[in-house]
Formats: sequence, structure tokens, C-alpha cells
Amino acid sequence: CGIVGYIGHREAYPILIKGLKRLEYRGYDSAGIVLFDGKDLKLSKTKGKVSDLEARAEQENTKEGTVGMGHTRWATHGVPNDVNSHPHYSNSGDIVIIHNGIIENYEPIKKELIKRGYVFKSDTDTEVLVNLIEDVKNKEKVGLGKAVQIALNQVVGAYAIAVFDKNKPNEIVVARLGSPLAIGIGEDEFFIASDATPFIEYTSNAIYLEDEEMAIVRLHKPMKVRKIKDDSLVDPYIQELQM
Ligand code: GLU
Repeated sequence: CGIVGYIGHREAYPILIKGLKRLEYRGYDSAGIVLFDGKDLKLSKTKGKVSDLEARAEQENTKEGTVGMGHTRWATHGVPNDVNSHPHYSNSGDIVIIHNGIIENYEPIKKELIKRGYVFKSDTDTEVLVNLIEDVKNKEKVGLGKAVQIALNQVVGAYAIAVFDKNKPNEIVVARLGSPLAIGIGEDEFFIASDATPFIEYTSNAIYLEDEEMAIVRLHKPMKVRKIKDDSLVDPYIQELQM
């Protein structure tokens, strides 16, 4: 399983597809991408290989945009099929997530969200997390980063996640606990991936998030890394990658 993301000035699609192919060695049963074209989110996902995803993205014309995220899934909750593949939308359709790992306590959270009117399309633990984020965001009237942080403090499990809100198209929120997550730092562009192989030709500067850390990857602003638990700022170590 793997995750990849891009935000910057290049077309995201080829970077995401190439990145997902480089992460194929990690194993997976499904693949998906989401792109933001400046107006709408476009999502394609499928059971099968990254090459199947490419065929589908071609058909569905999910190729335009300079922000996007891609995912290969290794199913833990819900069988491998198209619907359970990532990315997953929140109920409003504004927030979208990719996730590697497991949310162990998704059942009680899902029950509570259903009581609050949320409807679930998939059998995944991940769709519970994205709706929890949306619910927190609306209830607490906070920004996306804060909502992700509050939600993550309510879940038990393991994750590398990337979350995007189409109302805040300049940022991607990422977090990790137990699953790897690297951030490639370019000139006014950022790359996100399970390891550095998807972005090695674009930048030699990377931050590897530690467990229990999150970051808001934001254009035109310095990146801040924080502890999920207590919100303290972390001075990130920028690693020089060997080309
Ligand atoms: N638990 C999630 C699912 O089953 C993510 C699995 C993964 O790591 O790819 O959809």
C-alpha cells in the first residue's frame, strides 16, 4: 500500500501515476487518485493495478489539476472493490482523504456519525475518519488542520493520511502514526509519499514525519510540523536525499 500527493505548479496526474508505480513494490489490491482542477474535485478509483487506474482516469478524464493525491490500498476493512478503494469523500463532498493503516475503533465512531445523519458508501474504516474530520470541523468551527488533529486524537490505530479540502485548495494536511510518510520540499511545490522514490527527481530535500506528527503542507507559506497529541511545534529535520 502507498500514498502520494502533489501540490504546486506542475500537472499532478503524471507525478501521481508514476509515484504510485514506484510504490507498487509495497503491495496493493486497488488504486485511486483525486485531482483538484481549480473548481471541482475529480476522482477515479478501481480494484486492480495502477495500469487499470490509468485506463479509468483516461476514460473519466481525471487528469487535470496542479493538486492531487493518489493511493494504493491493501484492504483491512471492507473487501477489495471499486467502492472501498481510496480516495474517500466526506458526506459534503468537499473533503477527501487517502489513508494507509487501520482505524481500530471505527465502529463506535461510525455508529455515532450515523446517529448524526452521516451516510456511508463504503465498508472502510477510512470513510469513518474523513466524516469524523468533517463533523469536527463543522461542530468546532475550526480549520482543516485543527479538525484533523482533533479527529486523530479520538481514533485508535495506525495511519499515514493526506487530507484535502476543496475550499482550501492551497494546502494538504498530512499525519502519521505507524505508517511512513515523507514530504519532498521543492520551490513552491511539495510532494508527499510513503517513501522518497516518487519525488527523487524533483527535489533532494525531504522531511520524514515521525510517529504522532502532522503537518500542514501549504503553498507560499513555511511548513509547520506539530505533535498531534499536544500541538507543540516540532523543528523538522530536513534531510538531503542522495540522487
Ligand atoms: N484500512 C484502510 C482500508 O481498508 C486502509 C488500508 C491500507 O493501508 O491501504 O481501506
